[in-house]
Amino acid sequence: PTDLNALADEYLKIAYHGLRAKNQSFNCELVTNFDPTPEPVNVAPQEIGRVLLNLYNNAFYAVHEQGARCKGQGMTYQPRIDVSTQRSELGVEIRVKDNGTGIPESVKAKIFQPFFTTKPTGEGTGLGLSLSYDIITKGHNGTLTVMSKKGEGTEFVITLPV
Ligand code: ADP
Ligand code: MG
Repeated sequence: PTDLNALADEYLKIAYHGLRAKNQSFNCELVTNFDPTPEPVNVAPQEIGRVLLNLYNNAFYAVHEQGARCKGQGMTYQPRIDVSTQRSELGVEIRVKDNGTGIPESVKAKIFQPFFTTKPTGEGTGLGLSLSYDIITKGHNGTLTVMSKKGEGTEFVITLPV
């Protein structure tokens, strides 16, 4: 049984510190809101960690892009990523929310397809979300859903049965 709060927190720090090591001017507010009485869940921690790392890296990329866009327009912007856990009817939910670029409707339909990426060559393989989708749905009987609005941000929700 795995403590998802600890897992979600640990990988968030790994992802952020990895990016900060490469680009020290990158700054993002990280807000966590974890279930105070978490239910341990039977998962493969490395696999869920891999999913989280991908969601976090996508979120950091999206806020970084949004930062560049806002700067170009002379607008102030505070990048922010919110990570939370909570109980749901189906089990346990992990939410990863960013205030980055958001995903246009036309793109949203394709993001779980293997090799689909909007990133320049060398920056994305387009495999992260398709792999994540398989790990969560086929590997853990859970669900992985997305809500997003272009220009406002994106939220991914992982649900894992308890
Ligand atoms: P990659 O990161 O290699 O591009 P993914 O499968 O992880 O591949 O994501 C596929 C695409 O989904 C991304 O290229 C991007 O267009 C979109 N995407 C995923 N997460 C986000 C996010 N948090 N904000 C905006 N777009 C996103
Ligand atoms: Mg990715």
